[in-house]
Amino acid sequence: MLKGRSFVEPEDFSLAELDGLFTLAEKLEKDEKYLRESCRGKLLATLFFEPSTRTRLSFEAAMLRLGGSCLGFADPGSSSASKGESLADTIRMASSYADTIVMRNPKEGSALLATRYSSVPVINAGDGGHHHPTQTLTDLLTIRRLLGKIGNFTVGFCGDLKFGRTVHSLAKALARYEKIKMIFISPEELVLPDYIKSILQKQNINFIEREKLEDSMPDIDVLYMTRVQRERFFNEEDYIRLKDTYVLNAEKMQAGKKNMIVLHPLPRVNEISVEVDTDPRAAYFAQARYGMFVRMALLSSVLGVV
Ligand code: ASP
Repeated sequence: MLKGRSFVEPEDFSLAELDGLFTLAEKLEKDEKYLRESCRGKLLATLFFEPSTRTRLSFEAAMLRLGGSCLGFADPGSSSASKGESLADTIRMASSYADTIVMRNPKEGSALLATRYSSVPVINAGDGGHHHPTQTLTDLLTIRRLLGKIGNFTVGFCGDLKFGRTVHSLAKALARYEKIKMIFISPEELVLPDYIKSILQKQNINFIEREKLEDSMPDIDVLYMTRVQRERFFNEEDYIRLKDTYVLNAEKMQAGKKNMIVLHPLPRVNEISVEVDTDPRAAYFAQARYGMFVRMALLSSVLGVV
């Protein structure tokens, strides 16, 4: 039962609960009328203290498709945060108006903090460079849809593994499934944080770190490309030096397996050439659409209408 529960990290839900969400998302995708009016009268607050396109819009689309309504802000400049209001007070207010809160905030740990002041479930839509669990739901559902199951494959994470919160959440989540090998491909300055590596080590996950994408291409089943996270850099020079370290193009795709899938949480900047979009292995736009169905599944479960 997910009713009334917050979602701060993917591990907040058991594997069986995640499985239930994916099954529900698949049902919602197949039958557009299913659960259509189930959230009538319910309110979702979307509090975005950082920019977003897919996460915010797909949550809003999900809630509207379920018959509910949304309120919130997409820019902290238009909220009382710009007057110095604390996060705790903003959350106290929002939770007295809405039935669920979806929040993105630049501070690591902010979602967990929000759960302490909220009287309704809080869904973490990204807390700084820490976690992004609903992107993980999207990623796992995409893998399940396209590979048939989550397990028994090699995943290659490529790009900014230091600040990329989607990588942190997905690596931790995949560590709970069977027979997954992980390859972390990044420049030295952007390697996976030690705290994630030690979690993987404790769980005896088979992983390696590499600098060159080309060396790993033939081994990868799921290639997870990421953008260099400009907003988390301390200086622009470092960003400019590192931003184009990896550019996946048609030539590099030739070295990949025939049934490999390429994922990206988006937005893409330069790390995947547009010529790759027409390759049947490019799954990132389908992935973004699955995100809406899995968020419908999450909202309807947390609100207790299923
Ligand atoms: N949209 C994802 C996030 O919010 C990925 C990214 O921004 O690069 O973390």
